[in-house]
Amino acid sequence: MQASEAFTGSSRRTLLILGSGGTIAGLAPRPGDTLGYQAAQVGVAQLLAGFDAPPGCELQVEQVAQIDSKDMDAAVWLQLARRCAEGLAHAHVQGIVITHGTDTLEETAYFLQAVLAPSRPVVLACAMRPANAAMPDGPQNLRDALAVAAQPGARGVVAVCAGVVHGAADVRKVHSYRLDAFGSGDAGPLGYVEAGALRQLRAWPQAAPDPGLLGRLPAQPQAWPRVELVFSHAGASGASVDALVRDGVQGLVVAATGNGSVHHALEAALLRAQAAGVRVLRASRCDQGQVMGLPGDALPGAGALSPVKARIQLQLDLLAA
Ligand code: ASP
Repeated sequence: MQASEAFTGSSRRTLLILGSGGTIAGLAPRPGDTLGYQAAQVGVAQLLAGFDAPPGCELQVEQVAQIDSKDMDAAVWLQLARRCAEGLAHAHVQGIVITHGTDTLEETAYFLQAVLAPSRPVVLACAMRPANAAMPDGPQNLRDALAVAAQPGARGVVAVCAGVVHGAADVRKVHSYRLDAFGSGDAGPLGYVEAGALRQLRAWPQAAPDPGLLGRLPAQPQAWPRVELVFSHAGASGASVDALVRDGVQGLVVAATGNGSVHHALEAALLRAQAAGVRVLRASRCDQGQVMGLPGDALPGAGALSPVKARIQLQLDLLAA
């Protein structure tokens, strides 16, 4: 590995590797250990030990966070986003790889694409097996992520897992255990990494950047709009919505059935919430498809956004309002 602690100014292209934790950096218990499996135990520099940088590139490694991504929050998102923005401000930074847990990877991907809309690649790498597993998947996923980040013309936030490349808007964790744990729904994957080479199927994520957006995000996570998720299901009631409104919630995303339909009792509570000034969005709890808005919809639909991504978008919309 060629690593440097500071930008070197050399003519080589730099790949910035940011560690944030996850199972890729996790350790399974060894005989005699009293603690169970723990994510986020191994430093990102150690994960990269023995790695060669892609041709013409050098690696710069930084530990930004060290968490189990089930505990992800706005504070870590801000740290990651700021470090990405600072790195990408340097012309010699070809791309960024972030090692990340699988549990909330799709949320981080959506958030980073929304706030950075980067014109170079930001690639999330993960693993389903801990670093000390007999056959860990992290090293190969990390190699594939480096290959994608080094790819000329690559841009936007993507995730790489089990040789499959997913765009930020579409990626979802679809399996709790399998190594190939992510899907891109109807859209399909962006591409595959095969023997270190990218076979690209679809366009890179692309959006018009809002250069001031990152700076406008509150530094304190408590200052972010409070947006909560509720779920529509057989026998649903509006009790949790009423309680959240009393508690000062600013936005609600309902994980609705099918094409955005909501149990009548829950819907009545959501309409009361909306009338009281709470922003409400209907996303579908289905893994694929979208909520198609219809004229006369009383509660707006979230289109193709999954409930968790709709929650992030609603937070950003409330911040912009
Ligand atoms: N709980 C872990 C995490 O998301 C799971 C994983 O990385 O696979 O950090």
